[in-house]
Amino acid sequence: MSRGFSRWADNPAAAMLSFSQTTPERIPMPDPNCLFCRILAGEIPAKKIYEDDHVFAFEDINPQAPTHVLIIPKKHFAGLKEAQAEHAEIIGRCHLAAAQIARQRNIEHGYRTVLNVGPGAGQSVFHLHVHLIGGRPLSWPPG
Ligand code: AMP
Ligand code: ZN
Repeated sequence: MSRGFSRWADNPAAAMLSFSQTTPERIPMPDPNCLFCRILAGEIPAKKIYEDDHVFAFEDINPQAPTHVLIIPKKHFAGLKEAQAEHAEIIGRCHLAAAQIARQRNIEHGYRTVLNVGPGAGQSVFHLHVHLIGGRPLSWPPG
């Protein structure tokens, strides 16, 4: 005997559908003009290094060190300057993914995570990304 739901509202799927219909603003859409959203969508190729439900990491196309990986949230927002309290967790997740990749690559003795914020600091892609740079001596202060 099948376990049907006598009322549609009793079906768990109804609650999910209702959520997605009534709160579309909570489901950020990819930005079709954003390079990194297009990489996430598979429209532009990238060498994937790591992925989970929340973050995606890939090789930088113009590496500044033997390891130069970009870690990005799967949901678009422009950068640290635009971040809200709701982004605190994903910013942390990007850094934890960087630490995990650094461990896998045995560069734990010294690596750098970098957020370029704004054009004056060299930000050229406005989808938040953490640079993981390592595998060579890193001087301070950075340029
Ligand atoms: P930023 O200058 O901090 O905004 O960093 C953007 C980074 O994206 C730079 O290091 C670029 O080399 C890198 N980048 C640009 N286009 C691509 C691409 N198609 N695939 C991988 N990395 C890219
Ligand atoms: Zn984006």
